[in-house]
Amino acid sequence: MEKFEVIIVGAGPAGLRAAKVLAEAGKKVLVLEKNPVVGPKICAGGAFPKIFQQGIPDDLIERKFNLLKIHLDGRTYEIKSKKDYLLSTIDRGKLGQWMAKEAEKAGAKILINSRVILIEKNKLYSLEEALELLKEISYTKFDATVEVHIKTAPKKKTSIRGTVNLTEYKADAAGNIHQIIGKLSWDKKKLTENYLALLAATRQYNPASVTLCTTMSPGIRLQI
Ligand SMILES: Cc1cc2nc3c(=O)[nH]c(=O)nc-3n(C[C@H](O)[C@H](O)[C@H](O)COP(=O)(O)OP(=O)(O)OC[C@H]3O[C@@H](n4cnc5c(N)ncnc54)[C@H](O)[C@@H]3O)c2cc1C
Repeated sequence: MEKFEVIIVGAGPAGLRAAKVLAEAGKKVLVLEKNPVVGPKICAGGAFPKIFQQGIPDDLIERKFNLLKIHLDGRTYEIKSKKDYLLSTIDRGKLGQWMAKEAEKAGAKILINSRVILIEKNKLYSLEEALELLKEISYTKFDATVEVHIKTAPKKKTSIRGTVNLTEYKADAAGNIHQIIGKLSWDKKKLTENYLALLAATRQYNPASVTLCTTMSPGIRLQI
């Protein structure tokens, strides 16, 4: 199975530009587009000259305007330009095709006819799965710190603090415990031992949710 570091939903201007920038930065990028063709959109296609400074070719311009009329509260305001033009219109279909080529040239892969129907954002992972995933999704050049965040729901109002493996933990004002359990380079056995020790020490505060992450990664929710 081919693996990607970034998956972008939607090959509109935002998705395609993000795909190009990320692919140029060395990420493995996939763009999923539900439509059979990238680009066409119900849109006036109005574009200010500034966007052409970003490398969009001039030949995508359909028409140029150097007079703008703004109708507001029964009055009409006119903006005229002595320069070449104030505003142009571009064909969104052609713009999309050009942006898609640019993203692909940078190394991104685009799949059409691919509608995203479900993202399992509430999936709960086992500790083993989460530790493996954490190592896979971490791209820092330094040895990232592995953190556990526990949202507690104590049965009675109590101050939450204690020690585990000679390290002190305590909850913030909202009852959340944030604790470092090691470094990403450590083997799974050591991280697992530290995690289980922390969980055992904090069980009394009735953990409602537990999240594992590194300094720079998204959080992975754990089964408890
Ligand atoms: C009538 C109208 C006139 C406009 N006129 C102008 C104008 O003159 N000038 C201007 O600058 N802007 C104009 N806009 C706004 C402009 O179209 C948007 O700002 C721009 O398209 C937003 O880009 P985007 O990439 O964020 O989203 P979009 O262009 O909407 O792209 C989103 C993409 O995601 C895809 N997608 C959505 N859901 C899924 C899914 N579940 N799985 C896979 N793919 C999915 C869609 O098919 C689409 O290709 C106009 C918009 C409208 C509606």
